[in-house]
Amino acid sequence: MFDSVRVRLTLWYTTVLACVLVAMAFGTYFLLRRDSARRTDAAIVETAESFLATVNAEADEAKGPDGVRAGIEQANSEHKYRDTIFVVLDEDGKIVSSSSDQFMRSEPSGAPSGILQDATTRSGANSFRTVRLRERIYRSYVRYFSIGQKAYRLLVLQSLLSQQEFLDSVITAFALAIPLAILLASGAGYFLARRSLSPVVEMSTQAGGIGADNLHERLPVRNAQDELGHLAQSFNQLLDRLDQSFEQQRRFMADASHELRTPVAILCGEADVALSQSNRSPEEYRRSLDILRAEAGRLKHIVEDLFTLARADAGQHPLTLANFYLDELVAECCRSMRTLAAAKRITIKCDAPEEMPIYADEALLRQMIVNLLDNAIKYTPPEGSVSIACCVQNSHYLLTFSDTGQGIPPELQPRIFERFFRADKVRSRSESDGGGAGLGLSISQWIVQAHSGQLELTRSDAAGSTFTVQLPAGVAAQPLIPRLSSKR
Ligand code: ADP
Repeated sequence: MFDSVRVRLTLWYTTVLACVLVAMAFGTYFLLRRDSARRTDAAIVETAESFLATVNAEADEAKGPDGVRAGIEQANSEHKYRDTIFVVLDEDGKIVSSSSDQFMRSEPSGAPSGILQDATTRSGANSFRTVRLRERIYRSYVRYFSIGQKAYRLLVLQSLLSQQEFLDSVITAFALAIPLAILLASGAGYFLARRSLSPVVEMSTQAGGIGADNLHERLPVRNAQDELGHLAQSFNQLLDRLDQSFEQQRRFMADASHELRTPVAILCGEADVALSQSNRSPEEYRRSLDILRAEAGRLKHIVEDLFTLARADAGQHPLTLANFYLDELVAECCRSMRTLAAAKRITIKCDAPEEMPIYADEALLRQMIVNLLDNAIKYTPPEGSVSIACCVQNSHYLLTFSDTGQGIPPELQPRIFERFFRADKVRSRSESDGGGAGLGLSISQWIVQAHSGQLELTRSDAAGSTFTVQLPAGVAAQPLIPRLSSKR
C-alpha cells in the first residue's frame, strides 16, 4: 500500500493537516480560556464595586454600625444574581452578611469555611482565586473596604459554570470537527493525488507499450508548460534520439549487408563458373582466381572498415599515441600513392615545407591521409593532378588535399561524410581500382575528430575538390624519435 505515491502523498497531507488542526485547536482553546477568565475577573470587579457603592451609599445615609449592616443588607437585596455570592466579613473574619445561606450556617470543616478561611488569610491587595464549592467551580475575589473606623472584606464568588460549559462545548466542537475535517481532507487529498497522478500512470502505460517496432509513437503532451508536460517532452525527446539511432542502425545494417552481398555474390558466381568447367586452361583459372582475390580483398577492406567504425562507435578503438613528424608521414603516403596515381597519369604534388612534430596515432593518421589521397585519385580523371599542402597555423597543422576531379554536386556535399554514402554509386562500383563502399570519409572524419581536429570539404566544383584537415600541433613530453630521412 505504501508503495503507491498516491497513498504516500495522502498520508503526508493528512498528517500535516492533522498536526495543523490540532495545534490550532489547542491555540484557540487556550486563547478562549484566557479571554474568558479575563472577562470574568473584570465582571467580578465591576460587580464588587457596584455592591460597595450601594453599601457606602446606605451606610452614609444611616450612619453608625447599624448603618453599615443596613447598607450591606440593601446591597445584598439589590445585587441578587443567580451565579454570584457576596459575603462581607469583618476584621476578625466573622461573617457580617452573606447573600447565600450556605455561608450563614457553614460548618467549621465545610467547603464554605475553607473558602472563608482562605479569604481572611489573604493579605495585601485585592486578589482572585479559583475555588471549589460543592462540586462547582467559582472565581473568588476579595475586596478590602472600610466604613468609618472599621475595616471589612467583601468576598465575591462568581460561578464559572457557564464559562466552563462554553469551553466544554468548544472542546466538543473541536473533537467532532477535527476528525471530520481530517476524514474529508484525506478523501479529497487521495482524490486529488489520484487525479493529478493519473497522467503519469497513463504516460507509464503508454511508455510501457512502446517498443522497437513502434518507436515512432510519442506520448501526448497536454500542457507543455507544466511538470508533466516537461516530463512527456523529455521522454519524447529520448524516444526521438532512440528512434534516430535505431534508424541509423537499421540503415547501417541494410547498407552493410548490401555492400557485403555484392562481393560475396561475385565470389560465389566466379567460383561456380571455375568449378563448372573441368577442362579450363590454367590462364582461365588464374583469371578466375584474380577476380576471387580482388573481391576477397574488397570484402576484407569493407569488413575492416566496418570493424573500425563499430569499435569507434563503442568508444573502444584504442589510440596508440606517439610523437612523430606529420610532414614525414604525409610525404611517405604521397610516395606510396604515386604508383596508383601513375596508373591514371595523375601527378601528385606534396608541399610540406616545415617540420610538423605531432603527438598522435600514426597508423590512424596514415589511414586518413591515404583515404583522402585515394579519393582524390579515384575521382580525378586521367591526366589530372592531386596536391597536398601542409602548413602551420597558430597552434594547428593544416593539411589541404586538392584535386582536379569533377567535384561533388552541391546538393550531395552535406552527405558525403555519411556512412555508405556514394555520390555516384554506379561509377564508384564500376571503378577498375575497386570503388569504395562509402565508408572512407566517415572513417577519416572519425580519425580526425579522435585527434580533436576537424575534417571539412572546403571546396568542390567542376574544377575539383578540396578537403581540409586541421590537427592540433605539438608533442607530448617524451622525446621525438630522431628523423631518419632528410627533408625533401
Ligand atoms: P568511397 O569509398 O565511395 O570513396 P568515401 O566515404 O571515401 O567513399 O566517399 C564518399 C563519396 O564522396 C564518394 O563516393 C564520392 O562520391 C565522394 N567523394 C569523396 N572524395 C571525393 C573527391 N575527392 N572528389 C569527388 N568526389 C569525392
